[in-house]
Amino acid sequence: TTPAPVTVIGLGPMGRAMAGAFLDRGHPVTVWNRTPSRADALVERGARLAAGAEEALSAAELIVVSLTDQEALYALLGGVDPAALKGRVLVNLSSDTPDRAREAAAWVAERGATQLTGGVLTPPSGIGDPASTTLYSGPRAAFDAHRATLEVLTGADHRGEDPGLAALLYQLNMVMFWTALSGYWQAIALAGAHGLTASDIRPLAVEALDLRQFVEFYTPRVDAGDHRGDVDRLAMGAASTEHVLHTVADAGVDTALPAAVAALFRRGVEAGHAADSSSSLVEVLGKPAA
Ligand code: NDP
Repeated sequence: TTPAPVTVIGLGPMGRAMAGAFLDRGHPVTVWNRTPSRADALVERGARLAAGAEEALSAAELIVVSLTDQEALYALLGGVDPAALKGRVLVNLSSDTPDRAREAAAWVAERGATQLTGGVLTPPSGIGDPASTTLYSGPRAAFDAHRATLEVLTGADHRGEDPGLAALLYQLNMVMFWTALSGYWQAIALAGAHGLTASDIRPLAVEALDLRQFVEFYTPRVDAGDHRGDVDRLAMGAASTEHVLHTVADAGVDTALPAAVAALFRRGVEAGHAADSSSSLVEVLGKPAA
């Protein structure tokens, strides 16, 4: 089958990688971006730069959108003739909150088009690699109809009909990613205060950031509401997080992040979980701090 035409709106690092992947696979690619010069290298490779948003929308049934957030979608397409979107499948890969993804889906539906929301779980370097993953949600039929084209970008996993679901799963990924990565930056800053480099702590970091065994161990327990303190106790964790905080403070390094972690563990102890597992923090975190 001939590769289907695709339009890519939004040419940040992600959108450029996506347009490039479609070109590599022989798809006719139309691109459109607020700053047109970002299309230059793609045009050299055979992409067509649309003269305006309407032209971009009319060039393909499948419209891949990769913008900073959903506001950018309204900024770019809010002014176009609503009929220009009619019948299109808009693959919305801009990350934002689940509510904003649902609002965008309704906005798209009002214009006679269908939104598939996507959460891309890879940086631009992983675009074009079938081993990378994008989680999709929205109408299954639209996903099935365009699956082969979407698989040019990454592996494609449809998780459900709710247009907010892919955004939620993306944010679940990010809350873990940013929090763990911040811990890594914190460790490098602390190491640096002691004359150690990122290279010096590389083997330690690789081990510390691999939390797989904890995930596997705690998953069934947490789902069963079992926060038994047989292998770890929150009181021990609270003491440990205080040691981290003091080590960081003694080194003259910023303490905001370890102070927040130590405060969280202290709240758990105050809530009566001292003898429970640190997994009992799931209960503490389940509601806003007083
Ligand atoms: P960028 O934030 O760099 O995307 C910028 C794009 O959004 C550009 O096309 C920019 O236009 C456009 N844009 C932003 N604000 C507006 C606006 N108000 N009006 C019109 N256009 C606007 O992000 P990336 O390319 O890195 O990523 C795109 C999406 O993919 C983001 O939502 C990101 O969270 C998500 N993502 C990114 C990953 C990554 O590693 N980069 C990984 C996984 C997901 P202009 O060029 O004119 O500035």
